[in-house]
Amino acid sequence: MPVRFPHPDPVRPTQTGGRPRVFPVFLPLAGCPGRCIYCDQPAQTGQAPEPLEAVLARARVELSALPWPVELAFYGGTFTALPSPWPERFLDLAAELRAGGHVTRVRCSTRPDAVTPELLHDLRGRGLDLVELGVQSFSDTALSASRRGYEGATALAACRMVREAGLGLGIQLMPGMPGHTSADLARDVETTASLLPELVRLYPCLVLEGTELAGLWRRGAFAPWPLAVTVEALARALRTLWAAGIPAARLGLVEQQGLTVLAGPRHPALGQMARSRALLLHVRDLLATFPEAPDTLFVPRRWQGEVLGQGNALAADYAGLGLRVELWDEHEFGVE
Ligand code: SF4
Repeated sequence: MPVRFPHPDPVRPTQTGGRPRVFPVFLPLAGCPGRCIYCDQPAQTGQAPEPLEAVLARARVELSALPWPVELAFYGGTFTALPSPWPERFLDLAAELRAGGHVTRVRCSTRPDAVTPELLHDLRGRGLDLVELGVQSFSDTALSASRRGYEGATALAACRMVREAGLGLGIQLMPGMPGHTSADLARDVETTASLLPELVRLYPCLVLEGTELAGLWRRGAFAPWPLAVTVEALARALRTLWAAGIPAARLGLVEQQGLTVLAGPRHPALGQMARSRALLLHVRDLLATFPEAPDTLFVPRRWQGEVLGQGNALAADYAGLGLRVELWDEHEFGVE
């Protein structure tokens, strides 16, 4: 009888079907103290900065017209540092839309050095549910090399503040930013897991045209992580997050039209490659717990692509573990 085990991802794609869609309202660079060296939010969001009054009016029209409820997200800038009364005005709109049944939850993204307990408490009272912090790393060396303007302790304190304010916490990390190593990422992910965020996003650092990082890269002063290094590091990160029951909501940037990527670990299937590799590492570690080495891995049909990877790229790795891969109609995996 095969020994069964579930997919290690705490939130598998089939489980997310019932969750409301996230509707992003982009506020590119609004509230930001400057432009970070790797950031081109207008190109990343596909939206140029515009007066907040116009963003607010358009959001009201678009959201009111939606036939289904959504989770409203204020992304692309530093929401908690918007000048008064803009956070209040956007959250008033969200409350109005929530009362009308158009919005179920409200989230925003911001910087770790742009929150205080008082501010978070106030925003929660106005209807904010979740804060995604652009932590990028908890490593002082990486934060300093990337000129983020805060230290790891600030990022850590901000994460705790969000949770203590009774808000959901999202953490964004940027593997491979200047000064950041694979070992830093492993530590960052351990720290992240210990903070029990509701979601994590991992955006490997890319060199975007028009950023300060592009200049550093052209002068040879910055080298992005190679794709293979990134996939391996993301796979290890995924395993840590999966083991802690934390979903990785996103791996890699969504590339909008107009975004020019000059260099970096860019691949349309980056997330899938990392997931496949993470699954392989999971199976490998599981095998080590068996007194006698199993020779067959039974895979639910729907996970065939994820197990074997793009173009069956991982078939040889499973063979290297002494495993023959067989598909079956069960929901769980099996080994014998
Ligand atoms: S704070 Fe965030 S959105 Fe603003 S410039 Fe920096 S990375 Fe971009």
